[in-house]
Amino acid sequence: MSKPEDIRKKLLAKKGRNLHARFFKENPEIQYFQIFITNHDDQQLVPFRNKKCSMVNCVYDLEEIVSKYQIGKDNIEYSFLCDTCNNLISISGFQYDETLALKIRDIWNQNNSSGITVRVIRQLRNGKVEVDPEMKGNSIYISWKTI
Ligand SMILES: [Zn+2]
Repeated sequence: MSKPEDIRKKLLAKKGRNLHARFFKENPEIQYFQIFITNHDDQQLVPFRNKKCSMVNCVYDLEEIVSKYQIGKDNIEYSFLCDTCNNLISISGFQYDETLALKIRDIWNQNNSSGITVRVIRQLRNGKVEVDPEMKGNSIYISWKTI
């Protein structure tokens, strides 16, 4: 069984940029999507997308994929149903979303370095990212899944 740090390295090596662009292109009515920037351990989300996913808000955290990889006993072709879009997706179809990761890091450093104040951001069609105005200051714990 691979060590978690080796799995992380392997997953992070498959990178892509602007992975959300295809959803905006296919759906002219979408102006933005929201994502949680914390994972289930309240750490900064390390965002991944899967090629087979069909919804703009299908974003996974690195640690979640590491868990799936372990459940799949190191099989890179291990498949499961996406709990957002319900498509069958495999570990090998994931790509690290560098564009989103950089934006999450910026917002995190500006707002969350001494305690988490921002959990939800919006990726806008025009390429900008902003703190979700409706979720700002919301201290109630909300599920880390994408919405
Ligand atoms: Zn999906």
